[in-house]
Amino acid sequence: MANKKLLVSRVIEWSGLGLLARQLRQPNLIIYNFHRIRSEEILNSQFDENVFGITAGQLERLLKTLLTYAEPIGEEEIYNHITHRRPLTRRSFAVTFDDGYSDFYEVVWPLLRSLNIKPILFISTEAVTSRKLWWWDQIAYIVKHSPLRTWTWEGRKFHLPEESGKLILSLQRSYKTDVDFGNSKSMITLATQLGVTLFAEKNDSDQILTWDQIRILISEGVTVGAHSHRHDIFSKMTLEDQRQDLEQCLSILMQQLGVRPKSLAWPVGGYPHFTSGSVEIAKSLGFEMIYSFETGANSLNSVNPYNIKRVNGNNHPVVACAEMAFPEIFQQYKSLPTIGEH
Ligand SMILES: [Zn+2]
Repeated sequence: MANKKLLVSRVIEWSGLGLLARQLRQPNLIIYNFHRIRSEEILNSQFDENVFGITAGQLERLLKTLLTYAEPIGEEEIYNHITHRRPLTRRSFAVTFDDGYSDFYEVVWPLLRSLNIKPILFISTEAVTSRKLWWWDQIAYIVKHSPLRTWTWEGRKFHLPEESGKLILSLQRSYKTDVDFGNSKSMITLATQLGVTLFAEKNDSDQILTWDQIRILISEGVTVGAHSHRHDIFSKMTLEDQRQDLEQCLSILMQQLGVRPKSLAWPVGGYPHFTSGSVEIAKSLGFEMIYSFETGANSLNSVNPYNIKRVNGNNHPVVACAEMAFPEIFQQYKSLPTIGEH
């Protein structure tokens, strides 16, 4: 599918349609979302490889291309546009990073800063506090470290390690919908069944930003938003649990960082992953801007502050330019699997 997107994008660019559209069509606001950067050196991670996006070099090429067509804006400009109707005259884009992986501090921020791009960093607070990676990385770690040669899950026998990638995806899909698969007890049960001691080597901690690093990032100009506490799927939680999770996230962010975030991005973030009840809870807790994911471009002057749309940023620059020119063409791909969907 990535090749098909690239092919469509190349046709748009080669034909000159992309350039024409960017000059003539109504400006829009595209908000890119990323999670973590694919290292050039590390080919095989012991964690979830699907959450890695493009490399730092690819990110730099992408952003430099976007800067030739569009204005980078940060949370303040988004807020002023939405709430005070301050016009955005040019085609605009914003950059967001979700979760709290440490490569944001080491690799991403120095690049964004040099390009004068002000990102929003959405932090999921449990991992930063507990120093344990998120559930998708835990699932990947368990499967990749299992000594078993076969394992049956939901009636299908998986051969390991050959089919570990398929088993990881299958378990992650179950996690997103199965109410009972998601508490810390169930993860330990899974590890036990697969013969693994979860994070025995304690080598996950350096993958996650520290509170000290986040405080430095804020002092240097990064905006922090909330991304829930446990990063669970809100649509499978009770409303009371959703409220408790967001309250805990807010309380930790305020205690650790001394700032009350205006913005919230839903964990995972697609329309199946939260409900109208979730939105009402977030509004009642004072969030003024709420972001979804893989939901497309925003039309200027009609952005819904409680459903600010974002697209996956892990694209070839040609695809990003074509998407900026014709967002409606690319939205048909939004329900299909893409890189880094957490
Ligand atoms: Zn996330």
